[in-house]
Amino acid sequence: MVFIEQEEGRIKDVSFELLTKAGELASELKERVSAFVMGEGISSLTEEIASYGADVVYIAEDPELKHYRTLPYFHAAKQVIREENPQIVLFGATLIGRDLAPHVASYFYTGLTADCTELQIGEEKMLYQIRPAFGGNIRATIVTPDYAPQMATVREGVMKMGAPKKGRKAEVKKVKIKIPAEAAALTQVLHHERKEKTINLKGAEIIVAGGMGLGSAEGFAMVKELAKVLGAEVGATRAAIDAGWTEADRQIGQTGTTVRPKLYFAVGISGAIQHRAGMEESFKIVAVNTDPEAPIFDIADYKIVGDYKTVLPELIAAYKKLQK
Ligand SMILES: Cc1cc2nc3c(=O)[nH]c(=O)nc-3n(C[C@H](O)[C@H](O)[C@H](O)COP(=O)(O)OP(=O)(O)OC[C@H]3O[C@@H](n4cnc5c(N)ncnc54)[C@H](O)[C@@H]3O)c2cc1C
Repeated sequence: MVFIEQEEGRIKDVSFELLTKAGELASELKERVSAFVMGEGISSLTEEIASYGADVVYIAEDPELKHYRTLPYFHAAKQVIREENPQIVLFGATLIGRDLAPHVASYFYTGLTADCTELQIGEEKMLYQIRPAFGGNIRATIVTPDYAPQMATVREGVMKMGAPKKGRKAEVKKVKIKIPAEAAALTQVLHHERKEKTINLKGAEIIVAGGMGLGSAEGFAMVKELAKVLGAEVGATRAAIDAGWTEADRQIGQTGTTVRPKLYFAVGISGAIQHRAGMEESFKIVAVNTDPEAPIFDIADYKIVGDYKTVLPELIAAYKKLQK
């Protein structure tokens, strides 16, 4: 069962990524994929949910579910999960998923693995919930053998999204939910405003990312210049963000965004495992680093050993020339 996260009728990509993964897991288990979506005025979403592989779609509509609030969503979720009684429940590791999933897991007195990067069916048909642990130095496989359902949240952008099959049908189950008055009253949404995102790392085809090797905010500006010439998005390591050279939303890696662009420039980036976790699936990687032994070169397709101060101006000039 997959929690479908929607806001104002727009479903988050991570929900489609989870449906795709759920399809693989369910076919191994010879089970069906169910999904649940909550909100107000969202019945038109069921077709889209079905097209990504849900066999059953539970839909809970109520004015109290218009905007996310922990308790009304929790009461709706537990009701749906009780009705379907799934073996596995998956949530996106989004702000909402990270809030809702632990509430649900503690209600069912079961385990929850947060921020999984891989899911597999293992021995005795158990869900192997795989995630980096101990600062990313090991890959831990976590199981929930004694309690049900088995629950996990999954990082956004980590699982591949399948292609939707138009016209695919699912059984739609409308759920009449009961939200206790005190749960609805505890927090109220007085005003809701959508802030458009200006940074779009996930959708970028090219990313130019900078690290500590740039030495200063002035050095980092050269990464921004290369990005501008290429029409690319700017990314950064956590260290470069901690240094205050760019916005926190540009962090790529285990605790930042996971990206998969066609072209990824890693400039002055050592290639720590926590950074690689967020970018190593990029189609082509170009690394610029003074140290020929830097770990980033292990995964780079194009390896430029050199000082960014000489390499970047040449790249910028060359790309400008190509555009003429
Ligand atoms: C729990 C945890 C979560 C983390 N999550 C993340 C995460 O999500 N994302 C992330 O990025 N990090 C994360 N980190 C931090 C991570 O471990 C590294 O510290 C960080 O990625 C290093 O950043 P860096 O490559 O910019 O710096 P460094 O490791 O200091 O590397 C700088 C590189 O620049 C090169 N260099 C120096 N001068 C030049 C020059 N003039 N020209 C070209 N190259 C030069 C050096 O040879 C070196 O390889 C996390 C750490 C922990 C413990």
